[in-house]
Amino acid sequence: MGQGLARIKTIRDFELNEKVVFLRLDLNVPLKNGQITDDNRIRESLQTIKYAFEKKAKLIVASHLGRPKNKDDVQFSLMPVAQRLTELLGGEVILMEEPNSEAIKPLLIGLKPPQMILLENLRFIPGEVENSEVFAKELASFCDIYINDAFGACHRAHATIDAMPRMMAQKGIGFLIEKEVQFLDRLTEAPTAPFVAVMGGSKVSDKIGLIEKLIDVVDTFVIGGAMAYTFLQARSVKVGSSKVETDRLNFCREIMARLEGRGKSLFLPVDHKVSRTFEGDIVQVTPDVAIPDGYLGLDIGPQTIKNFSQVLRSAGTIFWNGPMGVFENPKFSEGSFKVAEAIADSRALKVVGGGDSAAAAEASGFASKMDHISTGGGASLEYLQGDRLPGLEALRARKI
Ligand code: ADP
Ligand code: MG
Repeated sequence: MGQGLARIKTIRDFELNEKVVFLRLDLNVPLKNGQITDDNRIRESLQTIKYAFEKKAKLIVASHLGRPKNKDDVQFSLMPVAQRLTELLGGEVILMEEPNSEAIKPLLIGLKPPQMILLENLRFIPGEVENSEVFAKELASFCDIYINDAFGACHRAHATIDAMPRMMAQKGIGFLIEKEVQFLDRLTEAPTAPFVAVMGGSKVSDKIGLIEKLIDVVDTFVIGGAMAYTFLQARSVKVGSSKVETDRLNFCREIMARLEGRGKSLFLPVDHKVSRTFEGDIVQVTPDVAIPDGYLGLDIGPQTIKNFSQVLRSAGTIFWNGPMGVFENPKFSEGSFKVAEAIADSRALKVVGGGDSAAAAEASGFASKMDHISTGGGASLEYLQGDRLPGLEALRARKI
């Protein structure tokens, strides 16, 4: 298990008045033609920003965005994020291209809420991804307090996540990380029974650590998405041309044997939406569990939706990771959306993790019914499976 938030301070523990606060956020939002298509990560960061403003901090916010090759990759500029922050906060966001002390120090003198400095995309600087001590030291040289609220980046040992906080004496987390960790911990620490994990998505191999961890705490696994075909093939069911990881068949057999040995239940699809093409030119529903040769399974079928929904409606705790089908295509979104609806209808503690699952929950229209949709993507899955996250460990470490 991870260690939760033991020995980690929060922003509430510091006197922020007139202090230079470096706030690492995850403002890595999806963009299309320069427009933000989902500003959830920005909105989830506002509580910490507003708190810092209230306490009269001199605020420097930093984030990465996408994977730019270098500074010239202008489509990865944080400019749209700066604009959105200005709209949401009604303040003045100063976007700084040069994150060095010479450029920033003079600006700090007169800086007052609701003004803040936003550093340009951290990944424009090679030192960020390289976890460079030199880059971290430069940033640390003009900051008094370091706050990490970038949950979605905590699994990366990058300079503003790892090297920099290790150099700082005053460091802690913001409100978003606190909330994320508390919800994820509730899943593994005495969850209300029955605990149902709904798993799906594209690959078994991405989720092995998570399945291994969840098998100890859940009562029931519900498996859909492409992942289900590897499980079905492991049971010698015909799955046509569906996506199967043949090198994971033994893993699936072993998991099924362990579940059975412990008296836990497993629900797999009993019918499917199939097509000869990934785009789904002609979509058919199979009459039973078998998928004919030449066909791809791309969503769960109607009887499977009924079975899954029934299990979910009576759950005490639900964790959902992985869409039930290729939900990006409206022809194959029904399974994921109906599962979202069944989760919404249940009285369970409902937590959604994973980037695509969060997107599916949003698209389903039932997002507001969930107790928590993690902004963390990969970080939430790594945390849940018990890995130590560099971003949290650096905050536990003594200053070097
Ligand atoms: P998350 O990001 O929530 O962890 P994953 O990345 O594991 O989820 O899986 C999401 C992807 O799985 C989606 O892009 C979806 O299209 C794909 N997927 C789901 N079901 C199928 C299927 N039957 N065949 C192919 N791809 C699928
Ligand atoms: Mg994904």
